[in-house]
Amino acid sequence: MGFLSGKAALVTGSTSGIGLGIARALASEGASIVLNGFGDAAAIAALRREIEETHGVAVRHVAADMRKPDEITAMVRSAEAEFGAIDVLVNNAGIQHVAPIDEFPPEKWNDIIAINLSSAFHTIRAALPKMKAKGWGSIVNTAWAHAFVASPYKVAYVAAKHGIAGITKTVALEVAQQHITVNAIAPGYVDTEMVRAVPAEVLRKIVAKVPIGRLGHASDIARGVAFLTADDADFITGSTLSINGGQHMY
Ligand code: NAD
Repeated sequence: MGFLSGKAALVTGSTSGIGLGIARALASEGASIVLNGFGDAAAIAALRREIEETHGVAVRHVAADMRKPDEITAMVRSAEAEFGAIDVLVNNAGIQHVAPIDEFPPEKWNDIIAINLSSAFHTIRAALPKMKAKGWGSIVNTAWAHAFVASPYKVAYVAAKHGIAGITKTVALEVAQQHITVNAIAPGYVDTEMVRAVPAEVLRKIVAKVPIGRLGHASDIARGVAFLTADDADFITGSTLSINGGQHMY
């Protein structure tokens, strides 16, 4: 029996990439899973079946759009109706757009702030009351180095990730005495669709700067998230775990 047996986990943006890796890792510890994100309906149904059969847990999919607060709240309520409460909430959904600020399309700014930042406010706001009632919860938000440093041409992404660091610490303080931990992870460059969009030459330079000398895998990130959700990690709150092959050191 895994340490999340009998618990339910909602992972936003989990139909691919890091989120899918996290969903698999939490399922392997026994959690029922609510997948969220876009994609081909048949492919998502196959994913659900595969995770259910591999780990013997219930897996649902809700295609709520993280830009829409009403859909986010409805997703949380449907998960609570089925599983009683969301015990583990992982705010992972995220998109990227790269452009100088004076050419940055306002609609891209709005989408990135909504998906990468505001959706975490809405999921936490909706899921916390049931966590408090149960007296147990684990929230993990996906930040990254851009929660602490900047890089040019990523104004919305950097602003959103700085915001995620702020939400993480604020909520951690608010619920510190209610057996609910709130942490963030800061992945380095991970081999997902988001990073496959980076030109090969740029990617080679990025990898050259990673002390361990490779891109991360979704499973590397998922390992850290699973660790933060364990009962005996309950003295860790308001923290950010760097999972980046050592890149945070310089
Ligand atoms: P990805 O593109 O592989 O996956 C993104 C997921 O979000 C998909 O499931 C997609 O369907 C979903 N999504 C996109 N828009 C959505 C919306 N409006 N509503 C609901 N779901 C939506 O990306 P990824 O690389 O796995 O990134 C996941 C998270 O990790 C993001 O927050 C990203 O900022 C962060 N991150 C990624 C890397 C990296 O190198 N890949 C590094 C650090 C942090």
